[in-house]
Amino acid sequence: MRAICWHGKSDVRVDTVPDPKIEDPRDAIVRITSTCICGSDLHLYDGYMPTMEAGDVLGHEPMGVVEEVGKSVTKLKPGDRVVVPFTISCGTCWFCERQLYSLCDNSNPNAEIARQAMGQSPAGLFGYSHMLGAYPGGQAEYLRVPYADVGPVVIPDGIPDEKVVFLSDIFPTGYMAAEQAQIEPGDVVAIWGCGPVAQFAIRSAWMLGAGRVVAIDRVPERLKMAQDGKAETINFEEKDVYDTLMEMTNGRGPDRCIDAVGAEAHAGGSLDAVMDKAKASVGLATDRPHTLREAIMCCRKGGTVSIPGVYIGFPDKVPMGAAMNKALTFKMGQTHVPKYHKMLLGKIEAGEIDPSFVITHEVPLEKGPEMYKTFRDKKDHCIKVVLKP
Ligand code: NAD
Ligand code: ZN
Ligand code: ZN
Repeated sequence: MRAICWHGKSDVRVDTVPDPKIEDPRDAIVRITSTCICGSDLHLYDGYMPTMEAGDVLGHEPMGVVEEVGKSVTKLKPGDRVVVPFTISCGTCWFCERQLYSLCDNSNPNAEIARQAMGQSPAGLFGYSHMLGAYPGGQAEYLRVPYADVGPVVIPDGIPDEKVVFLSDIFPTGYMAAEQAQIEPGDVVAIWGCGPVAQFAIRSAWMLGAGRVVAIDRVPERLKMAQDGKAETINFEEKDVYDTLMEMTNGRGPDRCIDAVGAEAHAGGSLDAVMDKAKASVGLATDRPHTLREAIMCCRKGGTVSIPGVYIGFPDKVPMGAAMNKALTFKMGQTHVPKYHKMLLGKIEAGEIDPSFVITHEVPLEKGPEMYKTFRDKKDHCIKVVLKP
């Protein structure tokens, strides 16, 4: 089959690789009809993830048609249309029983590598390096789905792929980010980033009762899409984020701050200024700025910082002193995707939201490498790419 493979920093290629086979009675094989490129893929593309190997098949936002199921699979049958979550979960461990699917204890065959890096291992993820299970990903013609009775959600005929494919990741991720922000009615919610995850966090913040949503980015078409979602926006290249948020909140700061940027944040002017002030006042050393620091510095005392943005390893100089003394709550994590499927599919079916608004590019799989570059460099007004194998 054809599949998008990682070969190194900024080097992905469409290769011919062996078709996946059933390896365990709980597996299913899915023929992929739509599969997306995610901001999380950019961490791999940018070479931030040390446990990638040349030839690894990428992709974790797929949907398609079940081709074959293993002997123990009872909930899926050939011909079913399914969206496959990016998290792989056994469904029966201590964590899965509590719907903490992204923390599954049994789905990472390379748990020992993860344990060395993190103390314990989170769940295995599709197309996300050897540390997280070395599972071939879904930017391919076919995908082997382990524990097929647990993660995949069956999609009724008549709903196009474009409306449901984001149930694989970014719609639940935006929703969980807003939920973890602990929004109370009327709260001011500030969201760093206007990428695809942030776009769903904006819409979800309204669903959860926000009174005001402020979204921060520098890419005009992404800011515009945030405005279409009824957010007020700040272009961090034009305005000082800290000062603007303080002005908007009578000096109190946003109640809830969501960092939907993560590892590859660009330095905003405001962050430098705020951190320079902090540095000057308490002798704090800083180097590469990131949005998490800005969120911590801006958040109102007693507020919540929710972090869907992916951080890898040891981001430098997190202002824990500010977080502690301002009594902030932190919530974060990879999304427990299946927990949200029924509720979010319900909203799509009821016409409350059409997630396809975020799609700017829909192209054949063979164009994947070109699209990685376009998406990473924010060229051609690219916000979300759907590949059609
Ligand atoms: P993206 O790269 O398309 O979006 C990131 C946005 O942040 C871009 O629009 C960029 O211009 C903006 N940005 C950069 N620096 C900034 C700054 N200093 N201030 C404000 N905005 C800034 O990615 P995405 O697909 O929307 O994903 C966003 C993050 O969410 C990534 O880190 C991704 O890995 C993560 N993610 C997490 C989960 C999860 O389960 N927690 C799932 C999917 C994605
Ligand atoms: Zn993703
Ligand atoms: Zn489990």
